[in-house]
Amino acid sequence: MSAKIPVSILGATGTVGQKFVRLLADHPWFEIAALAASETSAGRRYGEVVRWRETSPLPDSVAAMTVARAEPPLPGRIAFSAIEAELAGQIEQAFARAGVFVVTNTRTHRMEPDVPLLIPEVNPDHLTLLSRQQGARGWSGGIVANPNCSTAGLVLAMAPLHRTFGVERLFVATMQAVSGAGYPGVAALDVLGNVLPYIAGEEEKVEAETRKILGTLAGTELTPAGITTSAHTNRVPVVDGHFEVVSVGLRRKASPEEAMLALEAFRGPPEVAALPSSPARPVEVDRRPDRPQPRLDLDRGQGMTVTVGRVRPCNLLDLRLVLLSHNTIRGAAGAALQNAELLVKRGFVK
Ligand code: NAP
Repeated sequence: MSAKIPVSILGATGTVGQKFVRLLADHPWFEIAALAASETSAGRRYGEVVRWRETSPLPDSVAAMTVARAEPPLPGRIAFSAIEAELAGQIEQAFARAGVFVVTNTRTHRMEPDVPLLIPEVNPDHLTLLSRQQGARGWSGGIVANPNCSTAGLVLAMAPLHRTFGVERLFVATMQAVSGAGYPGVAALDVLGNVLPYIAGEEEKVEAETRKILGTLAGTELTPAGITTSAHTNRVPVVDGHFEVVSVGLRRKASPEEAMLALEAFRGPPEVAALPSSPARPVEVDRRPDRPQPRLDLDRGQGMTVTVGRVRPCNLLDLRLVLLSHNTIRGAAGAALQNAELLVKRGFVK
């Protein structure tokens, strides 16, 4: 690819927006052409309005950019969306109508039947839904979503088991990092030394999104996977990294060793494996009894690898395990980048 493809970031000042800025700073295919945020930030220099929370320095060239309003036209045919969900609906649709491919982190359009809810290693075929979307909505752009941050890790770990043995039932309890609530997010006085046993809407998202992503497509009609999930979602005082404990009921029984081999063998299709944001291994199994841990294992595969551990028999269902995924990379900005790369690879954007 000779010249880089210009892209915009909507909600560029937020937690996920900043992660986009960092990941796009040296992306081989894309370059940041516009940064957009709310009316309060628009018209001011990005460096002035952003409360930069990333550990690598904000590039001077990005700091000097003037923040735009989140409305078309903005440069480029790809817009990454990390806008507050309540406001994202109309903004994302306006860009799609203007011929832009909106690659979104927000929940707003995820469950709509013509919107691909994509994890490229798992369901790249669901991109076919874009043709249905463009036909039904009469726009030349499109909306492609990545899943909620706790769903992303769960589905990546369940996809190999579902393909090999058939997943029928899931129990999942999450321990979710505070960065998942955005910035400033949860008050320190609420979460330090504490566990918050409620994240609004999260359990419903995990249950429904899992069925959609693992669902099967006939033409442009999607049948959700017949998986019954019971999700318990909790906020814990960890900065980054969603940790989940899972029990899984399988159609065809499997030993822990067979399950680990299926997880270790899992790879995306070659066109996905070759994308710049794809890790060498989407899922790794750590066989040490006290791993994975957020502080030690989060950055595997540049934050795009999900680490599974403690695979063992379960007294309630068939197997139980733990998993760790990076909520703002695999669960947000990194996932969206990988989705946009697939759009380019498939020729939607040149
Ligand atoms: P955040 O830190 O609160 O940032 C929100 C962003 O939205 C800011 O850039 C803000 O700009 C912008 N914004 C607010 N009102 C706007 C408007 N009217 N027009 C345009 N932009 C507006 O939130 P976040 O955690 O980054 O999350 C962003 C989205 O990604 C949410 O929908 C969230 O559910 C989703 N998500 C988050 C995570 C995660 O781990 N954090 C994971 C997956 C999905 P100003 O600075 O100008 O107010």
